[in-house]
Amino acid sequence: LISECDGDSYIGNIAKGARTVTNCHYVNIPSPSPPVSNPYLVAVSPSSAALLSLNPTELPLDTLSGDVEGVATVYGCHCGTQYFGQLGDGRAVTIADHEGFEVQLKGSTTTPFSRGFDGAAALRGCIREMLGCEGLSGLLVPVTRVLSVVGTGEFIQRPWYGERDGRSKRKYPPRHMIRERGAVLTRFAKSFLRMGHFEIHYLREEEEELEVLVKHGMEVLEIGDGDWADRVSMFVRDVSRRQAELMCSWMRVGYCQGNMNSDNTSIIGATLDLGPFSFMDAYERGFQPFTSDGSGRFSFCNQPSAGLTATRVWAECVVGVVEGEERRREIVDAAEGTFREVFKEGWEDVRRRKLGFGAYDEGVGELWREAEELMEGTAFGVDYTVFFSRLVNVGAGGGGAEEGWEVLKEAFYALDEAEGGVIEREVEWKGWVRRYLEASKGEEEGGRIDIMTRANPLVVPRNWIMYECYKKAEGGVVVDGEEVGGEGGDFRPIEELLEVLQNPYQVHKGVDERIYGRTPKEYVGKPGL
Ligand code: AMP
Ligand code: MG
Ligand code: MG
Repeated sequence: LISECDGDSYIGNIAKGARTVTNCHYVNIPSPSPPVSNPYLVAVSPSSAALLSLNPTELPLDTLSGDVEGVATVYGCHCGTQYFGQLGDGRAVTIADHEGFEVQLKGSTTTPFSRGFDGAAALRGCIREMLGCEGLSGLLVPVTRVLSVVGTGEFIQRPWYGERDGRSKRKYPPRHMIRERGAVLTRFAKSFLRMGHFEIHYLREEEEELEVLVKHGMEVLEIGDGDWADRVSMFVRDVSRRQAELMCSWMRVGYCQGNMNSDNTSIIGATLDLGPFSFMDAYERGFQPFTSDGSGRFSFCNQPSAGLTATRVWAECVVGVVEGEERRREIVDAAEGTFREVFKEGWEDVRRRKLGFGAYDEGVGELWREAEELMEGTAFGVDYTVFFSRLVNVGAGGGGAEEGWEVLKEAFYALDEAEGGVIEREVEWKGWVRRYLEASKGEEEGGRIDIMTRANPLVVPRNWIMYECYKKAEGGVVVDGEEVGGEGGDFRPIEELLEVLQNPYQVHKGVDERIYGRTPKEYVGKPGL
């Protein structure tokens, strides 16, 4: 890859302090000086350490808190079809190519792409990204992995968006600046290449940079031999397939990424940059934890169409390396075709697996549609994770619709309501359970259970679960010079939760049982946790 702008030779100055960095893929980033003086280990993922052949009890904390040289890459950003120009690794630095993985620090330093921000990361954001990524990995959803979170011992400034436990809204109104503990996250992936990495070179007509990057992308994805245009087509279709498969995985586990701009969209089809992400509690097609997405462009059920748009826009840039308008069009169309086909099949597969059928047919689709309509149309909502993890027990041991209904009820948020937990549309629900039992009669019981327990997790990294965890870790936050929120420094809950989240399809003994149920009432509808 090309770096022609080491040191201070990047050109120009654009809004908010970002610098325009042209004709290269990355810039060298020196180790910050002075380095962090008292780094301390907050959490390490043992399975990640194993993948990197590192001993989790002997991590190099100096390096992992930022005392190391690295590179920051330049990329562009599309939101849908609209282009927003240059971004780049504003607080991420790639420090090594290790055991076949690109290893990156997040939050250790500013770069030419920091846009006037501080280059730092807050402890709670790092813990959240760690639990989210390691949790998705346990759920068998492709994702970049996290090795560690290391505290810097320094405080950083962050805007305060809203109420958190124990702090009054009146006293600490939204958009206050607060002091938070700083940390550095270490993450790794086969590659951190984003769609935006390619787009920026195409749109700037940097032909050589685009071509070199496409060749690099082909290497990462191990695209086979052939004539150049055919290889480009294979590359584009492979990225397309991965993106479509990722959308299916997200929807299987109730994950909403929140922001699917092309700077957060990986070409290896891994979940990347978990910002405003959230797992759904009550099922809702339009679920969107990211409050800045007013139109719902990236809401839960819009993710496949957003993924397709992102892929298509990206493909239109990548084909810039191919001669001939007609050939370019063919490649883009093939990418779109691949996406549609893979998604259609994958989504059929997800629905039949979640419902426990060996094969997809119209009947399965109909059962899904009815359940979806009922879930959305029942007052107070129905928990997506609890519903499907209990559905496996419906009909178990020859039980009928009445017994099945009793099992499923646990997923209903109406049970928390003061009115005595009256569930709306109970008659219709019982009808659905009857039809479900009828339809699954033909399925062999062991096979059905097997399919369902692999598709339906018992626990997902919900906001409230992560919140309780990082609250114990971060302790006090300083607001107006006053420390609020307790002592902190308790990192064991992170370790315990990591263990549970890495095996979310089995029951763990001796853990807080609440994690297997609906989101507790006091946390329902609190997106700002
Ligand atoms: P995001 O919305 O997290 O995808 O970030 C958008 C862009 O802003 C990326 O290029 C980030 O690297 C950059 N960025 C976000 N937060 C910071 C920060 N605290 N310091 C420097 N750059 C940041
Ligand atoms: Mg972004
Ligand atoms: Mg990002």
